[in-house]
Amino acid sequence: MIRQAIIAAGGMGTRFGEFTKEMPKGFIEIDGIAMVERSVRKLIANGVEEIIIGTGHCFAWYDELAKRYPCIRTVRNDNYANTSSMGTVAVCAPYIKGDFFLLESDLIYDAVGLKVLANDPRSNVILASGPTHSEDEVYLECNGDKIITRSTKDKASVKQHAGELVGISKLSKACLDEMMAFYTADASRIKMDYENVLASVSSANGGHSDIFVRKIEYYAWAEVDNKAMLDRAITQIWPRIAENESLWNVRREVLLNPGPSTTTDSVKYAQVCADICPRELEFGNLMEWCGIELTRFVADPSKYTTVMFGGSGTAADEAMVSSCVPPDGKLLVVDNGSYGARMAKIASVYHINMDVFKSSPYEPIDINALENQIKSGHYTTLAIVYHETTTGLLNPLEIICPMAKKYGLVTICDAVSAYGGMPMDLEALGIDFASSTSNKHLQGMAGIGFIVCKNEELLKQKDWPMRNYYLNIYDQYQYFLKTKQTRFTPPVQTFYALRQAIIETKQETIEKRFERYTSCWKILVDGITQMGLDMLVKAEHQSHFITAILIPKSPQYDFNQMHDLARSHGFTIYPGKLGNINTFRIANMGDIRPEEMARFIPVLRDYMHSIGQC
Ligand code: PLP
Ligand code: MG
Ligand code: MG
Repeated sequence: MIRQAIIAAGGMGTRFGEFTKEMPKGFIEIDGIAMVERSVRKLIANGVEEIIIGTGHCFAWYDELAKRYPCIRTVRNDNYANTSSMGTVAVCAPYIKGDFFLLESDLIYDAVGLKVLANDPRSNVILASGPTHSEDEVYLECNGDKIITRSTKDKASVKQHAGELVGISKLSKACLDEMMAFYTADASRIKMDYENVLASVSSANGGHSDIFVRKIEYYAWAEVDNKAMLDRAITQIWPRIAENESLWNVRREVLLNPGPSTTTDSVKYAQVCADICPRELEFGNLMEWCGIELTRFVADPSKYTTVMFGGSGTAADEAMVSSCVPPDGKLLVVDNGSYGARMAKIASVYHINMDVFKSSPYEPIDINALENQIKSGHYTTLAIVYHETTTGLLNPLEIICPMAKKYGLVTICDAVSAYGGMPMDLEALGIDFASSTSNKHLQGMAGIGFIVCKNEELLKQKDWPMRNYYLNIYDQYQYFLKTKQTRFTPPVQTFYALRQAIIETKQETIEKRFERYTSCWKILVDGITQMGLDMLVKAEHQSHFITAILIPKSPQYDFNQMHDLARSHGFTIYPGKLGNINTFRIANMGDIRPEEMARFIPVLRDYMHSIGQC
């Protein structure tokens, strides 16, 4: 897995003259997006967690870009005027921890090149293409083992021609270390290009690194060093890249049901990867990274730990309810919807001593009444749902959990449909355990349930007799801590998708995700209000993630007909879930854009019109 990239972007672009005097070449736009920004997006979509951009000429442009892409770190090559590309790679080198992509900033390319390099079993691979006739070709020469011997612009001198240098490579940290040792050993090497340093440390020339060339004969790519190359890139190459990449698009289905939610194509494709035994350290490292990042979204990883299971959200809830009540403890479950009722049901199945605090599914909880029950002194543990997906009601945990803590209770919270959709800080909220799943606001695939646990409370479970087995939180935690493995087979490919979903959540940020959801929700609320439809829960108590809409009065209303019409337009909607009140529900969780919600409204209006509602 390639987790980092370096983009060498220090150059002055002198061959463009005035054009790039006050702007780095990478910021030249093709089809509305700067070349380097498009490259950053492709790297993120292909699983790169951190992009280190070596800057120089007009560095401020890159610092601005970094503000929009949290995964970018810029590093300045102050001596850019006196070095060449290796000088810029050199300032980035200290940040590299493992295998990485090395790219030039002035490229447009088909993202398949990144996939080919990532899938190549060899550690050091330079991407090459067949003839481009770009008139600035750099030719790669190889020995019989396909290990690079030379890179040169002098075609006539090349003996074993291996292709034209694209400007994208996959390299190991060991190779980079060798490049750095070579580069810094002699001051006369200061103006070397990185490709010549690569050739110098190649085992074909007495170095220690086997550096291979991988040629894609008809690869669509262009480098842009001057006006003629830019014209060629725009007119000949970009249309090919755009077409090639569009062939990978997966048919879009907009899921307006409350999970599993709509995912990006990059999350879908992250599952397509080499087979791996989940007991390999490489996979353990991936699960560990996922766990830490899942914690970091909502808590300080030095105080909280995420414990993961193969299973749905209910598995996480069941693990939490059946693991977190002490052997002689008593649980109070707040039930104001199906998911509160489900936690009570789980507790009863495990014969846990329990009372239920019932509350209306569409009105706020009576805090005083709840406080009176909590302070009766009977309880060790409080269970509550953060966002009742049944109705879209958001419970005020910022009041309830600190109150429960004040009376000494441990708080366990079903955050399945809240986590990742809105900013939350578990410690500030007074939440000791929070459950969620890979497939709701995280926009990953279904199959991983997890619990973010306060370490202090988790460690207390060490000597409790086990009430459960597969779902035991402490056992799962301590086994992973010791071995970097789960006790039982994890959903391997789902973890690769989760990793990609986490990368994309960090890129969007949870704050912005909440804003996007709120924009979608407002479009929906405006639309249904105009159709004369009513919502079950008052707007101010809603989450903005799902809206329960009272069904129209018309006797012709038929959920299935409405569903089928929506589905024929690519939208999936969901029935209500309250026994006695008739609603249907529209969720906006997952990778849903406001313009898609805006397209859904006329579809719903057409249906409502057809039954005489509006
Ligand atoms: N808890 C809440 C609040 C939910 O919204 C859901 C699913 O919608 C669940 C638990 C159960 O999740 P799953 O269906 O993945 O088991
Ligand atoms: Mg060039
Ligand atoms: Mg160039």
